[in-house]
Amino acid sequence: MSFLKLEQIVKRFGDATVIDHVDITAERGEFVVFVGPSGCGKSTLLRMVAGLEEVSEGAIYLDGANVTDTEPAARQVSMVFQSYALFPHMSVHDNISFGLRMAKTPREEIDRRVAEAARILQIESLLQRKPRQLSGGQRQRVAIGRAIVRNPKLFLFDEPLSNLDAELRSQMRVEIARLHRDLGVTMVYVTHDQVEAMTLADRIVVLRAGRVEQIGSPADLYERPDNIFVAGFIGSPK
Ligand code: ADP
Ligand code: MG
Repeated sequence: MSFLKLEQIVKRFGDATVIDHVDITAERGEFVVFVGPSGCGKSTLLRMVAGLEEVSEGAIYLDGANVTDTEPAARQVSMVFQSYALFPHMSVHDNISFGLRMAKTPREEIDRRVAEAARILQIESLLQRKPRQLSGGQRQRVAIGRAIVRNPKLFLFDEPLSNLDAELRSQMRVEIARLHRDLGVTMVYVTHDQVEAMTLADRIVVLRAGRVEQIGSPADLYERPDNIFVAGFIGSPK
């Protein structure tokens, strides 16, 4: 079975069906990108994988286990959001280690994992700063650091770079690719940005109004879009 498997997932909010029988898989170590217009259900799908939102129908399997009803903390999934949601009164070190401290992780273990994350993200010199003393790109690194120290099986990114300016965005895109390569962890990444999708993805899932329109490698979607909607999203000339 695939490392991550969404099977016939339905999500309703009241009378509205916002996810309609979606099947998506990710293999171990794969980088899967979700694209699609605003409101098509990308964030809702990620939230269901993280356990932050219940599914209405269907099942989610992760690393061989059915996690459909598993509480978020037990899923070993880390999510990085567009807004960094750092604690303003805490240092970078304490922001990164917050989840570990809550889990009563021993002090030496916390320090070791924070140092390792800081090294990977090249923020060693910033550990004693407060978030307001950081640039946007540095804050997003801290948010990613917070995800890394939890040693997740799966990383979820919800438009993590869309608050950054173009130059920083392309720099962080390279960093995320490097992170994926170095950690070898499965990643599911939501973006509006075609360049991000085309350069980061092993496979792209094109979503439209709560349904999967097409799934394929960047080259597949570019060269053989199933329809004009996919072509428009991927930027190919069909
Ligand atoms: P995307 O991330 O692709 O922009 P979302 O997953 O945020 O889309 O939203 C998908 C649809 O579900 C939208 O129509 C949105 O209004 C609706 N939706 C999301 N969360 C809720 C909620 N908590 N209650 C009601 N409707 C919601
Ligand atoms: Mg969203």
